[in-house]
Amino acid sequence: MLRMGLTGGIGAGKSTVAKELVELGAVLVDADVIAREIVAPGSEGLAELVDAFGDGILLPDGSLNRPTLAEKAFANDDARAVLNAITHPRVGRRTAELVEAAADDAILVQDIPLLVEGSMAPAFHLVAVVHAGEQERLRRLVDLRGMPESDAKARIRAQATGEQRREVADVWLDNTGEPEAVVEVVRRLWEERLVPFEQNLRTRTVVHAEPVLVAAQSQWDQQAQRLVARLALACGGHAVRIDHVGSTAVPGLVAVDMLDLQVTVADLAAADALVEPLAAAGFPRIEQIDHDTPKPSYGAGGETDPAVWSMRLHGSADPGRPARVALRVDGWPGQQFSLVLRDWLRDDAEAVHEYAEVKRAAVRSAADETDPLRAASSYRDVKEPWFDRAYHRAWDWAGSTGWSI
Ligand code: ADP
Repeated sequence: MLRMGLTGGIGAGKSTVAKELVELGAVLVDADVIAREIVAPGSEGLAELVDAFGDGILLPDGSLNRPTLAEKAFANDDARAVLNAITHPRVGRRTAELVEAAADDAILVQDIPLLVEGSMAPAFHLVAVVHAGEQERLRRLVDLRGMPESDAKARIRAQATGEQRREVADVWLDNTGEPEAVVEVVRRLWEERLVPFEQNLRTRTVVHAEPVLVAAQSQWDQQAQRLVARLALACGGHAVRIDHVGSTAVPGLVAVDMLDLQVTVADLAAADALVEPLAAAGFPRIEQIDHDTPKPSYGAGGETDPAVWSMRLHGSADPGRPARVALRVDGWPGQQFSLVLRDWLRDDAEAVHEYAEVKRAAVRSAADETDPLRAASSYRDVKEPWFDRAYHRAWDWAGSTGWSI
């Protein structure tokens, strides 16, 4: 099951997007609907609210008078805590029930207005944010939904900012134009990303990046940080630390559009315990072939035992975001080297320039081969001599700058 979080400021068009996704075949779990359901007339939730806040919170027909409850519950922190203690666990339980009831191959969309405010993004395989400017949202709320302007303004002000939402958005759905425009984008998202992502997740298939070098992209680090947050949640206590490493972590360096993440674990048993949680989170394990592990010759500093270069490799199931996740043991040379290499390159513009040239030469050499395995091996043959020297240069730099992890 693929779980996508859908959010956006009030009036941005979440319901419009959700409706289209349902038409395409998604299973929708709507947080607003659940929040109403758990305090519907006759519910246990409503009975507990009456016990806590008195029957003054009821309308004559026995349903909840929301403005009166809000007045009482938002009067002070204690009252708000009482309200949350009654409602939050019920919303959580009902959400879990609905998620569990969905089919294994479902594409589940959770419409959650306060996804950003509640720091829920890492729990989803993908987060889509629907965006429209504040003035436009205000106009829609007042003109189309009949909300008093002061209410609409207050609600917009109480929510997260566009900037905060951008940080968690794997998919940014611009809904400033005509509704038909966003609907078209949603259809493409469904076909090109959500359907294949769900299938890859279920079949544990990783995606590959096109083997071409592209100019450094300013959004790489933010994308990587979103993956770090997902990995952290999936790994729990098994991860000692998680870092964005490799070429995409060095500003200005040309790279294949494939993010490298390193999960540091205490030992290989911890890495092996993460096969299932990582696959479920969208990072299936890749069976390693010999060249996935760096050659011990990098370890001319004494770490020549090939075993200490062992690692476990995972990929990404998301067709929209290829990534490679290496699980390496804390303190082993491969784990340390990926960090020191990144930090040395971040600090040495000349080395970045050299490395970019070596990569370009490697790509040219691979382009002469038609067989993909020979192309990959040709690429490595050109890069490796530079890397062998880089190992020592990076550590020399670490020694001279007092670098430490
Ligand atoms: P949300 O669920 O994010 O609060 P809605 O989907 O209910 O927002 O949209 C708010 C209002 O704006 C609705 O009346 C909706 O029909 C309208 N709306 C949505 N998208 C557009 C658009 N692109 N242009 C104009 N009005 C829109």
